[in-house]
Amino acid sequence: MTADDLAFDQRHIWHPYTSMTSPLPVYPVRSAQGCELTLDSGERLVDGMSSWWAAIHGYGHPALNAAMKAQIDTLSHVMFGGITHAPAVSLCRKLVAMTPDALECVFLADSGSVAVEVAMKMALQYWQAKGEARQRFLTFRNGYHGDTFGAMSVCDPDNSMHSLWKGYLPDNLFAPAPQSRFDGEWDERDMVAFARLMAAHRHEIAAVILEPIVQGAGGMRMYHPEWLKRIRKMCDREGILLIADEIATGFGRTGKLFACEHAGISPDILCLGKALTGGTMTLSATLTTRNVAETISNGEAGCFMHGPTFMGNPLACAAATASLEILESGAWRDQVAAIEAQLTAELAPARDAENVVDVRVLGAIGVVETRAPVNMALLQRFFVQQGVWIRPFGRLIYVMPPYLISPEQLSRLTRAVNAAVARNDLFV
Ligand SMILES: *Cc1c(COP(=O)(O)O)cnc(C)c1O
Repeated sequence: MTADDLAFDQRHIWHPYTSMTSPLPVYPVRSAQGCELTLDSGERLVDGMSSWWAAIHGYGHPALNAAMKAQIDTLSHVMFGGITHAPAVSLCRKLVAMTPDALECVFLADSGSVAVEVAMKMALQYWQAKGEARQRFLTFRNGYHGDTFGAMSVCDPDNSMHSLWKGYLPDNLFAPAPQSRFDGEWDERDMVAFARLMAAHRHEIAAVILEPIVQGAGGMRMYHPEWLKRIRKMCDREGILLIADEIATGFGRTGKLFACEHAGISPDILCLGKALTGGTMTLSATLTTRNVAETISNGEAGCFMHGPTFMGNPLACAAATASLEILESGAWRDQVAAIEAQLTAELAPARDAENVVDVRVLGAIGVVETRAPVNMALLQRFFVQQGVWIRPFGRLIYVMPPYLISPEQLSRLTRAVNAAVARNDLFV
């Protein structure tokens, strides 16, 4: 890219959560292979982000590339209304087989946020069909479910600035974020506020929506599996639906194929995205039980009211099928376990740093929570100078590398994190 290209980018192109008047710097990437990104300058960076949870098999994986190339020559895209195709059927067969038994019906959409919109809409249509006016969702604070309006309405009210959308966002119910840590003791008192909210609004709540075990972009918090067992029971008792948003946690990231497995529970509706295509194409899936699907279908509309233009995109389905085949080999289990052990050992020294308040690791996720917010631009540049790609936000420096990262590459990431927290000039 030329200097002129960068100037154009700065003047005309929005990047995620950034300003058009004082944008944060962007780094031009020329290519990516395995666990490394190559910048235009030729510098190579070890990838600590998996492109936001997605590239679990690294970049340029030969099996994913081959599947997409073959699919392009056969059928890149065709409408899904009145038409079906082998890539969608193969993918959905696998999804139904690998997710909990009760989840049988699959809705394919284009992004994680849309999968959440679909899940919420399904819950609303479910209760509409049952003749009950239930239009509220109960969730935790510190959650993140996407950037579209329905999804935003269940994101943490402060993080996603609900004040900006006052009067426009539906008024959902927020319980305090879980306090019992994944690796700590279960504290019975943790449940009180949640249970009280559910009891007070039991006839209004259509569904509970949550990120199982790991709250991602809303704070990178890892909570006790007992929470999920209790919520599953409470939902069953009230007939309230449970939506598990596994868009970030799905496909092995937490050490289980799906995070719900840590608690042995099955949701009524499951959202998948991010790593679904191994980080190659945008695709998401919302799975439901037969009961939810049939109830919706027997309601007033006689159908589910959603149908994206690019629904079931064959190219994305082919990539996803290839990615699931890699997971089916099972190698991810040992890889993620090894990453967890190494992150635990190598991030431990960060605990002693003045700038650090907490270090937590689960599966292939390592989080260092700092006392003060990071200076994003400075810290980003520091990491690039250290030869790593780690994108911190707020008071969180975290890594979630591709599963096939080598021990040497992973050490490079942890060394950079430990070096960063030892400096005072990188925090505000
Ligand atoms: C990223 C994310 C989403 C939104 O997915 P997009 O593909 O960015 O729309 C929803 N829920 C969770 C838990 C996520 O991590």
